[in-house]
Amino acid sequence: MGNVDLIQVSKRYGAMEAVAAVSLAIADHEFVVLLGPSGCGKSTLLKMIAGLEEISDGEIYIDGTLVNYVRPAERNVAMVFQNYALYPHMTVYDNIAFPLKMTGVPKPETHERVQRAAKSLGLETLLDRRPEQLSGGQRQRVALGRAIVREPAVFLMDEPLSNLDAQLRVQTREELLRLHARLQTTTVYVTHDQIEALTMGHRIVVMRGGVVQQVGPPQDVYDEPANTFVAAFLGSPRINLHEGLLDRSGATVNFCIGDLEIPLPDRLAHLARQAGIAEEAALGIRPEDTAVHLKTDHDQSGRVVVPATVALVEPVGSDLYVSATTNGRSWTARAAARLPVTPGQPIGLGLDLQRAHLFGADGRNLALTG
Ligand code: ADP
Repeated sequence: MGNVDLIQVSKRYGAMEAVAAVSLAIADHEFVVLLGPSGCGKSTLLKMIAGLEEISDGEIYIDGTLVNYVRPAERNVAMVFQNYALYPHMTVYDNIAFPLKMTGVPKPETHERVQRAAKSLGLETLLDRRPEQLSGGQRQRVALGRAIVREPAVFLMDEPLSNLDAQLRVQTREELLRLHARLQTTTVYVTHDQIEALTMGHRIVVMRGGVVQQVGPPQDVYDEPANTFVAAFLGSPRINLHEGLLDRSGATVNFCIGDLEIPLPDRLAHLARQAGIAEEAALGIRPEDTAVHLKTDHDQSGRVVVPATVALVEPVGSDLYVSATTNGRSWTARAAARLPVTPGQPIGLGLDLQRAHLFGADGRNLALTG
């Protein structure tokens, strides 16, 4: 079993609250990703679960047992760090076997477990080598092997891929997922990389300034972000997010950016008309929901078309990212590769408002409040 329960867990360094009253129930077999910008408290939270950092407040349970005062070695967790500190003078075999040797596991059993871990990571043929004779990716696999061999209830991983180059990162990410599918070991994984979070997590926990912003399956969080921070943190290119004013005086509700009036569809208009909603709001619409129309006023798909001027064109092979300005505001649209647009050209931005988000004056998604 590998449940992890966090109840109002906090960490203070002097007056600074690095982690603020985080509550989270992680189920057995789950792969949970802690995601957020540098300094948001992800590593601190992970280290508190590992027992490497004292808890200022709150309770941590692993498999139903309160572990606040249990030493790291006795928590039945294994941690994998970004810097896979392997012992340079030991072979791969001895590096992987090390945690078992330290806990006095008999040699025959150690041998069997090392072989099993090596096999699941494709390291069987490298067991006699020393770390210096391995590539970066292979070294990280050895570090994983050292965690796997302990057969812990929970893996705790702190940015384990960030020292690898881009191609290897993708490959090792896939290996980690296959490994998790096979071993089913509960995993808490820290990253600042939204792609890692979206591709790996059963659930992601988005953090900011020590505070949990949103918890949920990656696609749900992407599709319905709890606030403007989450909306902007997930997604590349970044979501188009513009502050403006709600005009609720007529039969339709308009979102106004200066003199640009964007009529809101019923779903958003309904949210805007709720009691207590301020006039100030923000509209969010992702680049993939923003189309480029070469004719400035024409749309057959029922989108609202906003006239704009192309500022920048970025081809990324499969797509074309087009930045365009209207009323001094910048928007990004994801267009088809090879669309003939150049800077200075007038275009229409086709906004699929059915997929847009409306945030209140406090930044919260109005669809998720109330
Ligand atoms: P993340 O992993 O999200 O980058 P951390 O958990 O490492 O963030 O840090 C969270 C906050 O706590 C940061 O502001 C960091 O500077 C601070 N912090 C971390 N460790 C210490 C420490 N030992 N002493 C004082 N402040 C710390």
